[in-house]
Amino acid sequence: MNEAIVVLNAGSSSLKFSIYEVAGLGLLPLARGQVEGLVTSPHFKAKDQNGQSLADDSLVSTGGRIGHPEAFAHLADWALKHFGERLRTIAVGHRIVHGGTEFIGPTLITEKVLGKLEQLVPIMPLHQPHNLAGVRAAMQLRPDLTQVACFDTAFHRTKPKVAERFGLPDEMFREGVRRWGFHGLSYESISNQFRTLAPEIAAGRVVVAHLGNGASLCAMKDGQSVDTTMSFSALDGPPMGTRCGTLDPGVILFLLRQGWKVEQIEELLYRKSGLLGISQVSSDMRELQASREPLAAEAIEFFVYRIIREIGSLVAVLGGLDALVFTGGIGENSPAIREEVCYHLSWLGVNIDSSANARGTGRISSKSQAPAVWVIPTDEEKVIADHTLTVVRSFNEQLTAPNQVPVASVSASR
Ligand code: AMP
Repeated sequence: MNEAIVVLNAGSSSLKFSIYEVAGLGLLPLARGQVEGLVTSPHFKAKDQNGQSLADDSLVSTGGRIGHPEAFAHLADWALKHFGERLRTIAVGHRIVHGGTEFIGPTLITEKVLGKLEQLVPIMPLHQPHNLAGVRAAMQLRPDLTQVACFDTAFHRTKPKVAERFGLPDEMFREGVRRWGFHGLSYESISNQFRTLAPEIAAGRVVVAHLGNGASLCAMKDGQSVDTTMSFSALDGPPMGTRCGTLDPGVILFLLRQGWKVEQIEELLYRKSGLLGISQVSSDMRELQASREPLAAEAIEFFVYRIIREIGSLVAVLGGLDALVFTGGIGENSPAIREEVCYHLSWLGVNIDSSANARGTGRISSKSQAPAVWVIPTDEEKVIADHTLTVVRSFNEQLTAPNQVPVASVSASR
């Protein structure tokens, strides 16, 4: 019987998953999907590696609400029925948004580790509790499995201190009010892939634009993060589907003085701003591009404008640019947005090949052109699965090594 790794990404209303088969030294993707509409109208969807539907069912609860534990139980049951005859799950890898300063690599989850991650909930209240609910659900139902945490903040811990600060009193920095950075698992995926695709260029000064519903950019030197646009929360940087992007904190003070409540401001900044707020049409780039509403065009214009500003500042930090990489739903799929961004960067020597841009994978600038421009699909789940397998193997080696006591926490290097 072959071994399998399950990757979980637990959000406020969904539990996303991927299943990989351990094949020799590597991993084969088998299925991915999600339980969406948790609590309200739960629905289970799964697809195979070719995108063919394996399941598409409404979940009817007989015993009350369907939260993370029930969603994981449904997934475990489905996976057993579907793959149980030939596969045995050995570990679950979890996407965890915040690892603070302590968790800078993938980590074997114990009760002690979970306790430390819970202490980070106050600085990431909208994401961390749901991620940890996914961990608890998996640990309770399958205490026999190795559980591994992979962190979105971890990739950015190579940033210099100067790029970690806000202009606030030093004690606040020490208390965790700092520019953490997120989307780290996506940037790690791009960094790994780019090293394989174009090692000489990846060793240089690279800006990666992760443009999706959430959007951020990362400046990398030799594949490591030196600065990024998201900072303390997932709000900073370019505008996003429904998030505002960089905002003068004076606006918050103004709203508070106008009598706005914290929850109303949170709703405004996370769910009613960005492309949706400006356009009043949609948060979805495809719908904006198809719309004839003038505000839809203004929202796209603002999105591109802020991306160009961010790229300019990251290029200044890097002292030049060897490559620009697009990823994320918009970055991977919208030739028009890539063209618009690159057009405004022609002063840097950026020049893309229009037919390569229309095809939209791999290098989209001509071979001789510098800086190079690439489109690379991100695969955060594969990064988590790879790390999980590494941690499992290293833990098993420690268990079997003579005269060795197994350690509680194993960190795999990136
Ligand atoms: P993500 O959050 O990475 O899944 O990205 C979601 C965003 O990608 C949405 O705004 C989609 O409209 C956008 N997107 C996906 N496919 C396309 C496409 N072909 N053209 C433009 N935008 C796209």
